[in-house]
Amino acid sequence: MTTVETTVPEITRSVTDLGMPDPRVEIPAAYGGVEADAQWAAEIKRLAKARNAVILAHNYQLPPIQDIADYVGDSLALSRIAAEVEADEIIFCGVHFMAETAKILAPEKRVLIPDERAGCSLADSITAADLREWKADYPDAMVVSYVNTTAEVKALTDICCTSSNAVDVVASIDPDTEVLFLPDQFLGAHVKRELGRDNIHIWAGECHVHAGINGDELTEQSDSHPDADLFIHPECGCATSAIYLAGEGVVPEEKVKILSTGGMIEAARETDAKQVLVATEVGMLHQLRKAAPDVDFQPVNPRAACPYMKMITPAALLRCLTEGKDEVLVSPETAERARLSVQRMISIGNPGSGE
Ligand code: SF4
Repeated sequence: MTTVETTVPEITRSVTDLGMPDPRVEIPAAYGGVEADAQWAAEIKRLAKARNAVILAHNYQLPPIQDIADYVGDSLALSRIAAEVEADEIIFCGVHFMAETAKILAPEKRVLIPDERAGCSLADSITAADLREWKADYPDAMVVSYVNTTAEVKALTDICCTSSNAVDVVASIDPDTEVLFLPDQFLGAHVKRELGRDNIHIWAGECHVHAGINGDELTEQSDSHPDADLFIHPECGCATSAIYLAGEGVVPEEKVKILSTGGMIEAARETDAKQVLVATEVGMLHQLRKAAPDVDFQPVNPRAACPYMKMITPAALLRCLTEGKDEVLVSPETAERARLSVQRMISIGNPGSGE
């Protein structure tokens, strides 16, 4: 069984192909052959209106997908919009677990994802069968899951968490109760260090696409841009190692701002810095540059692009609206149990405001 009992992750890891797809991860070929021109945009708008559909796009989507969407944000903010917005259909431009979360919170709406093969290596690092087996070893433990998990895993979870409220969620559990924390080992190590609790067991999952933002790279970028601010977005697995590294003092604390998407965009508008280093998926730069065109936003790792996110192409979105595919289905029983763990998450601390 792949669990980490007490160790924290190594800070220094291979950077040779940081941000590039891990050879263990097979990325399917995306739908192509359609240009995101004015004709495409007009057709997308026409089809969405005809279907009474609302288009939601995660911050890490390709720029034309962000620009055509009705709402852009992080996964939790988008799921809440999915639940509240008046529409028959939700077109979720993001990865599969995010569209599932939208379906969990909006069970009465039809949820479509333009390409259902857009997965997440972090969510895939633990299955429901793995979790059942792990729980059998710790029958009295409470299960805390990061939001990057499948609906089935959420259904076996006591409380979900975001990286913004992971510490508060675990702190809300009786100190004598054992905790199973999954799937992100970096976030788990951060929580364990913050709370100083020995009874937290951590699943050894990680985002295989990025394999974390490396300490050497963060230090190097910070040293070579001494006047730049450093923005770290905590909502995606790719940033959790940066949170861990910031906590370790790898980069000066006063320069580091750990921000939700909304907070990052607000901070971008308010910053006095001429340059800001951004430690997250590169798609975020599009929104930041739009919000503060005079600030020079640079990625800590320019190769930190999630290829699953980039599978939602202009062609995939056109196919989705034309053919009504791919529908995201979650069984009512699974959705009901998963919803409880997500609702508990929303009620503890600050789960992240997203937009
Ligand atoms: S960047 Fe990593 S954690 Fe985020 S969606 Fe892509 S595969 Fe999942």
